Amino acid sequence: MENVDYIIVGDGYASLFFAHQLIKNNKSFVIFSDEKKSASRVSAGIINPVVLKKFTTFWKAQEQIVFLKKTLDEIEKYTGQNYLIDAPIHRIFHDENEQKLWLKKSANDDLVYFLDKNFAHLEGVKNDFNSGKVNQSARLDVNGFFMGLFDFLRNNRQIINEKFIYSTINTSDHTYKNFKYNHIVFCEGMGVKNNPFFSDIPVVPNKGHHIKVKLFQHLPENITIKKKHFLFPLNDNTYFYGGTYDREQLHYDVDASAVEQLTNGLKEFYPHNFDIEQVNFGFRPTVKDRRPIIGRHPQQPNMYVFNGLGARGILNGCYFSKSLYDFIENGIPLHDEIALKRFFPQ
Ligand SMILES: Cc1cc2nc3c(=O)[nH]c(=O)nc-3n(C[C@H](O)[C@H](O)[C@H](O)COP(=O)(O)OP(=O)(O)OC[C@H]3O[C@@H](n4cnc5c(N)ncnc54)[C@H](O)[C@@H]3O)c2cc1C
Repeated sequence: MENVDYIIVGDGYASLFFAHQLIKNNKSFVIFSDEKKSASRVSAGIINPVVLKKFTTFWKAQEQIVFLKKTLDEIEKYTGQNYLIDAPIHRIFHDENEQKLWLKKSANDDLVYFLDKNFAHLEGVKNDFNSGKVNQSARLDVNGFFMGLFDFLRNNRQIINEKFIYSTINTSDHTYKNFKYNHIVFCEGMGVKNNPFFSDIPVVPNKGHHIKVKLFQHLPENITIKKKHFLFPLNDNTYFYGGTYDREQLHYDVDASAVEQLTNGLKEFYPHNFDIEQVNFGFRPTVKDRRPIIGRHPQQPNMYVFNGLGARGILNGCYFSKSLYDFIENGIPLHDEIALKRFFPQ
């Protein structure tokens, strides 16, 4: 029997950012990964403090960005790689009204550090009304991040490539197979619906598709273009365009209507030919009140859930992993807005 402080179930952003808290604090752990393509693996990697439809910001955006950058620096120290891509978002304006709204909003206290007042004209794409730059926005190198962290965890024998079987947990002596654990943290994304301990948490799937495209005319390397969806270069000479949002078509196949939406969206501002090389999709775990769901099981005091990261898995996953760690290890109460008990008073 091997003693571990933690078992983590799942291998997306929630899991890896929580694992980072454990690494920082010298806690022992293993991660169970079913090796399915998580929502995290297909995500765009956008780090964005602004809601680009209405030009507003959100709860703790500035704190979350600062915390993410610090965390990525810490992860770089033990994996030896930088995963932050300094490529700010440029939002293409549809018309003059949007330009005016952007300028007006850029004077607000909460947006002044995010909405750049100087508009930029972008080469290679249609942008008759120019574009606005989102200061402090960036991208995560999604592939690099997962490869780098998985390599590190594999070398330390902290990742187990098998599906976690809930019925095998022995809740009275706190064992699972040959592990004796102090705590289990469930980070399964939409997979939580199969978890008998937490299946009733109100997370709702929102299916997102992206396409990988080959562009016949290259675009600037150091920016992320936003019109309808996000467009940016990947490492292999292709570009990422996505993602869509869909709460209705939840089957496990590619949706032709999503691909059409992406194709039309890209054609709207990219005036050259392109080939679609790949289509991917995933299911965002969303919550009606747009806050994560974090907490302890009411009857099983050493079982926890970390879910509901929504469309902002990177910022939410990184920032709130520390809230969960502090809750478990230091007894610091979870903020009411993210606590599981807002749905299940204990
Ligand atoms: C197309 C698309 C684009 C997106 N773009 C962005 C973006 O640019 N920026 C951003 O911040 N967010 C983005 N998101 C949202 C983000 O991806 C999600 O918020 C995030 O992935 C959720 O992470 P998670 O760890 O909770 O779940 P997941 O990433 O789904 O990870 C959970 C993992 O646990 C595994 N698992 C479940 N049950 C078990 C079990 N019993 N045993 C073992 N393993 C198990 C699952 O198979 C899965 O691999 C995007 C999402 C999509 C779909």
